[in-house]
Amino acid sequence: MDLRYSESEEAFRAELRRWLAEVVPTLGPKPPNTDWPARRAYDTTWQRMLYDAGYAGIDWPVEGGGRGASPVEQLIYLEELERAHAPYVGVNFVGLLHAGPTVIVEGTPEQRARFLPPILRGDEVWCQGFSEPGAGSDLASLRTRAVRDGDEYVVTGQKIWTSHAEVADFCELLVRTGPEDSRHHGITWLILPMDRPGIDFRPLRTIARSTEFGELFLDGVRVPVANRVGEENDGWRVTMTTLSFERGTAFVSEALQSMELLRGLRQVARHNGAWSDPELRRRAGHLGAELDALWALARRNVSQAARTGVPGVGGSVYKLALSELRQRLAELGMDVAGPAGLSWDDIEEFAVPGGVTNPEIVHSWVHSFSRTIAAGTSQIQRNIIAERILGLPKG
Ligand SMILES: Cc1cc2nc3c(=O)[nH]c(=O)nc-3n(C[C@H](O)[C@H](O)[C@H](O)COP(=O)(O)OP(=O)(O)OC[C@H]3O[C@@H](n4cnc5c(N)ncnc54)[C@H](O)[C@@H]3O)c2cc1C
Repeated sequence: MDLRYSESEEAFRAELRRWLAEVVPTLGPKPPNTDWPARRAYDTTWQRMLYDAGYAGIDWPVEGGGRGASPVEQLIYLEELERAHAPYVGVNFVGLLHAGPTVIVEGTPEQRARFLPPILRGDEVWCQGFSEPGAGSDLASLRTRAVRDGDEYVVTGQKIWTSHAEVADFCELLVRTGPEDSRHHGITWLILPMDRPGIDFRPLRTIARSTEFGELFLDGVRVPVANRVGEENDGWRVTMTTLSFERGTAFVSEALQSMELLRGLRQVARHNGAWSDPELRRRAGHLGAELDALWALARRNVSQAARTGVPGVGGSVYKLALSELRQRLAELGMDVAGPAGLSWDDIEEFAVPGGVTNPEIVHSWVHSFSRTIAAGTSQIQRNIIAERILGLPKG
């Protein structure tokens, strides 16, 4: 194994670094967390800039319209974006990181031609309509029904926790096409255009003061059969592809973001005296070591996905470790912040060059609670690891 970067990889890094140094300072300030239309505009503008510069869909195969970068280049790309404090993927999360990749693997040539380029250009935003009030961890019990009527499905039911639906153009939607008790065998994966009559979206406000998700009510919504990905009643298999992207590679950049957050917290702690506490230093050291291990795991997942086309079940190990680590990191942040952690407003005296701000620490903390729930709870990841990786008997 040669762990050095090749000349062409170094050239890729240098060119990307140059481009980022040029464009990132030209971006305006990030919109407030609570203003979703502004966040859509910000995130899709950034996506368009990546597209124009040839960096959109870095991990997508060339046939899918992406750059088809090698695993090493993908990791360099993520490292450089984080180093430059470039914008996060944001509202493009579902489209770029799991719906688009699912269409690449499972879609027809027509679907790939119709749906992939607008995701890459930042023209169209996607959301995910999997969970229902009675179907979260036990997703196979979902009840939203689709009945075929000529060349359309008529969809009726309710989804919940649908992230970014407020600003989405399409939704990757799971529906029941088989009998009520058909579980995994009666599910179909559809592409729902969000502008159809019969759709009612009601936002839900989180403790982070944001309406990042909500309830999606569907009443006789007509979806073309041409928008079905995979065969009717074969949607569970397609769903496994979606979830393996969501858990395996979608959160890879978060390991780097966590390292950046830890670095910023150290800066603040050294400045405000929190660093004199040996216990706090010990926790920071542990988190740093865990993050190094997590980044190694992320690199493994990226290489595996590049080799096989779809990330493996090992993504559950990464997802579990990352979510729980983010919660401990957020708690460390609140201990570093001290009384400043009680305020959402910027406290001027708290600011340290290279450090994180107190609202960033508070946001990271309130948001951390959802991490062990979103994209499959920690208990579910543990079940998957036990049964599918360790081969233990079903509980
Ligand atoms: C921030 C956020 C964003 C989200 N975005 C989306 C989205 O865009 N689209 C979407 O479709 N969904 C989304 N979700 C929903 C998410 O996928 C579900 O919340 C999650 O799968 C858990 O389902 P549930 O909330 O129904 O909890 P339940 O499934 O009811 O679980 C309740 C508790 O029981 C435990 N439990 C359940 N079954 C088992 C079992 N077999 N073994 C051990 N323990 C078990 C769970 O771990 C949990 O602690 C989002 C959630 C969050 C928090």
